[in-house]
Amino acid sequence: MAMIAARVLLGLCAWLALGLAAPAFAAVPDHWITLENACHAVGVTPPAGQDGRMPAQFSCTPDPRDYQHGSLWIKVNAGTLAQAGANPVLMVHSSRFDALRVGFFYADGSVDWQGVARGDYGARWRLGGQIAFIPPDRDAPLSGVVLRFDRVSSAPMLRMRLIDGGQAQLQATAMASMIGAALMLLALGAVYNFGLAIAVRRQFPAWQGAWATCMVAWGAMWSQFHLFFLPGLAGAVSAQACTALSCLATLLATFSLLTALDPVHVPKWLGRVTRAVAITCCALGVPLSVMRSGPMEFWAGLLGILVLLLLVLAGSCLIVAWRRGSAPAKAFVGAWAVPMIVMGSSGIIDVSHAFWGGGSQMMVLAASSWQTVWLAVAATRRFMGMRIERDRALMAEAAAQEQARRDPLTGLRNRRGFLEAIAPLLDRVNETGGPTLDEGDTVALLLLDVDRFKMINDSHGHEAGDAVLVTLARRLARWDGALCISARLGGEEFALLTSGMGRFAALQLAESVRAGLGACDHGAIMGPGEVTVSIGVALARPGDDFAALYRTADAALYAAKHQGRNRVVIAPDVVYAESEHGLVMPRIASID
Ligand code: GH3
Ligand code: MG
Ligand code: MG
Repeated sequence: MAMIAARVLLGLCAWLALGLAAPAFAAVPDHWITLENACHAVGVTPPAGQDGRMPAQFSCTPDPRDYQHGSLWIKVNAGTLAQAGANPVLMVHSSRFDALRVGFFYADGSVDWQGVARGDYGARWRLGGQIAFIPPDRDAPLSGVVLRFDRVSSAPMLRMRLIDGGQAQLQATAMASMIGAALMLLALGAVYNFGLAIAVRRQFPAWQGAWATCMVAWGAMWSQFHLFFLPGLAGAVSAQACTALSCLATLLATFSLLTALDPVHVPKWLGRVTRAVAITCCALGVPLSVMRSGPMEFWAGLLGILVLLLLVLAGSCLIVAWRRGSAPAKAFVGAWAVPMIVMGSSGIIDVSHAFWGGGSQMMVLAASSWQTVWLAVAATRRFMGMRIERDRALMAEAAAQEQARRDPLTGLRNRRGFLEAIAPLLDRVNETGGPTLDEGDTVALLLLDVDRFKMINDSHGHEAGDAVLVTLARRLARWDGALCISARLGGEEFALLTSGMGRFAALQLAESVRAGLGACDHGAIMGPGEVTVSIGVALARPGDDFAALYRTADAALYAAKHQGRNRVVIAPDVVYAESEHGLVMPRIASID
């Protein structure tokens, strides 16, 4: 909790400081032209492209009326102009109007008119949703600036400022890089979240991806990045699209948040109310975005209140879910705290001067990229944790499986492990039709049984018997390798399956095994040569399964015991055909 709070605070401070400090770096401060410090007049709109007759009378009260269907003239007062320095640039934030003409008046009586109209901003637009008007250099000083907005939707929403020309260039560069970085982060966030949604088949990253996409579209629209590709959209259309997109983003963000939280962690009524308010906000965005006249400020104010209410509701969902132990809620608190505080505070505190004049939009963009980066990191950490857990479970399962294949006393494979290990070798014999016995490449089963083991148990005790088995198993395991698979099949019976050996080599190996095991030193229990084994060998033939091979080897082993123990007996060729039918006992060939 403290960690998250500290991080949120740190992030908030870092970029608030950046935004608020930006104007302080400016050599010459911005001079905002507001309805309070300028005079205005309302007139009939002249034909397109014409400068029209400037009204004779200007009113200096801050509440122009009936301008939505005509032209609103704004005259910058002399004081503001004087403060703006010798080379001022007029920056007007894009808003809903059909055309804007700007007249620069000079002391020698000359006037320079410049203008933009819907669908044609020419070279005047700047990244960050601003239109720049640069007065041409004349010998005479600038004596006045007049702006004429045609069919402007809301005068109080106009944002205009005079700024030093050099500073304007610097600000444009700084804003362009910041907007570029924020849009890039959001775009990456969108791609990442959509990828995540497909990979983990969850709703939440899909909503998050849709939100990030919407924010990219909004950011591009607001900053007028789209004019690179669609210059025809310049003007009111962009501003209207921005309103629609920001309302849609509110809805998507809410859905992203609600789908990330487990329904059991959020009271049903709270989830429903939050959803309903988000949908209302989005629905209100539709009339608000198509509106060109009428009580714009009223609807915008209503939307602002609804957004604040939505923030409170979403915040409540988060806090309740967090208190009920929801893990995603923790990540969301960190991610959403900054955008929420920004959105909530921008309605109360005037932040239009922050971020090089980018104002609240710039803050929203920065906060959104913060949010998407935070959530991407949180989601990655969560899935990384899940992957580590899964890997651990898989490893534990593999270890358990391995244990189930091992004999606990000797550590050799047990019957189950042996059968699994030799299956591919036996399959090979059967699939390829199997090597013949003369080819020198076959699979042989060596069945080993400790001689008179019962006597060891009886005379030295069961524990001593166990120790003998362990010593024999350790020695036997030395033959384990690519061509040899060893196992304890049960009791004092062991097995070795060899591959790639012919009859003679198999017999040689069996003999070394017999001699090797017989030479084992069992310490205080039995000396070398006192514990012996008998071995029965069977060579696989095509069609043999383990049972058949075992039967044959067992018969050979029985013969070895019968012949006096401590010896190797291999079942001869003829035995296979006959023993398969269970008719004849094997004829024994001993090399002893
Ligand atoms: P043979 O030479 O004919 O094989 O004689 P044997 O005494 O080895 O054969 P038998 O089958 O009569 O006796 C095997 C004994 O092995 C009986 C059983 O008590 C003992 N045994 C089986 N499993 C274990 C074990 O895990 N530990 C110990 N200590 N003894 C075991
Ligand atoms: Mg036995
Ligand atoms: Mg025995």
